[in-house]
Amino acid sequence: MSTFYGPDFQALQSSDPQIAEVLLKELDRQRMNLQLIASENFTSPAVLATLGSTLSNKYAEGYPGKRYYGGCEEVDVAEEIGIARAKELFGAEHANLQPHSGASANVAIYQAFTKPGDTVLAMSLAEGGHLTHGSKVNFSGKWFNVVSYGVRKDNERIDYDELEALAHQHKPKMICSGATAYPSLIDFKRIRQICDAVGAIMWVDAAHFIGLVAGKAIESPVPYADAVSFTTHKVLRGPRGGMILSKAEHAAAIDKAVFPGMQGGPIMSAVAGKAVALKECATSEYQDYAKKVIENCKELAASLENEGMRAVSGGTETHLALIDIRSTGVTGKEGDERCSQSGITLNKNAIPFDPEKPSITSGIRVGTAAVTTAGMGRAEMKEIASLIARAIRDGADREKAAKIMQDVHSLTAQFPVYPR
Ligand SMILES: *Cc1c(COP(=O)(O)O)cnc(C)c1O
Repeated sequence: MSTFYGPDFQALQSSDPQIAEVLLKELDRQRMNLQLIASENFTSPAVLATLGSTLSNKYAEGYPGKRYYGGCEEVDVAEEIGIARAKELFGAEHANLQPHSGASANVAIYQAFTKPGDTVLAMSLAEGGHLTHGSKVNFSGKWFNVVSYGVRKDNERIDYDELEALAHQHKPKMICSGATAYPSLIDFKRIRQICDAVGAIMWVDAAHFIGLVAGKAIESPVPYADAVSFTTHKVLRGPRGGMILSKAEHAAAIDKAVFPGMQGGPIMSAVAGKAVALKECATSEYQDYAKKVIENCKELAASLENEGMRAVSGGTETHLALIDIRSTGVTGKEGDERCSQSGITLNKNAIPFDPEKPSITSGIRVGTAAVTTAGMGRAEMKEIASLIARAIRDGADREKAAKIMQDVHSLTAQFPVYPR
């Protein structure tokens, strides 16, 4: 067997110094700034090696053993291992590793279970849902009749009574649960009961929290749902991509919807990278990691409350927290910009019933998946909360922002990612 042909950075530097410089600067940015975007993480060197491999060259339309191209014997092994690992890790009856992204996986879900014009019930975007859950600028909102449910005013958690009433009123083909900016756990059992009562497909978009499920830190939607779609690059810490788990009875519909329904050839380097990540997720180290991500997020939300800001729904049960920063007199947009000036990367986010426009917002969203991978713990979460508070208050002042950035860099220097 030949030796591995791995990523050759020197070759890139000599052939394309401009792009080589982007790669170097991006690595520095990831190492030095505080990475608090709830949907990001630092994938492992093993996953990066797989992504940068010659598997990228291979066309493999179809599924293992049933391809439309020759020469798939090696990539078949990778995909079969990945499928077996996914089924084992999540206790799922079927797994499809080919969706290029979370949004692509969702296109396949709609295609497997609905026809254009059908009614789908999903969480409102303003209250945490995703673009693919019925936004008017997305295919889901253009091609489907999407009815939205939201959260309760008093506790900012999903209004299950409203969800149930809407399900009986509109008789949706499919009910979607899962969101991009929802810090609480979801009652999958209740949603299953509602789906059964109205004969709807139960689809869970677990993009954000599936890593916590993989690490056995929160309850799994897999036993309840007809299908679970997700991204592999958020808390799960794998390569950029998507995946779908389903009951065996939906296996053929899901596979057909992914290929040939909406994609051509799978990205086999990413499929193999998903297999590598799934093996990592099955370890006790990863389970410890998933628990720490939640502990850290609880600490971060509580510490931000100590700084005078309000955690939506009173805190968090997951890897992300939504923080209402109106008490500071700064909007979400301005807060995001001030943090960015100070070396803190997070995003502005609407809070439930936000009085501001979606482009301004009253809140920020923070997540602890990446900083926990870097090795940070509760003491560092307290420090991060104080850095965020300083940035939001003083980050408009260039000198003060520069001082905060110095403090950010001395914190991240103690927790190096991708050490040299
Ligand atoms: C991130 C996310 C997606 C989309 O994933 P992409 O890989 O960016 O396409 C879909 N649904 C939810 C709930 C998400 O959080």
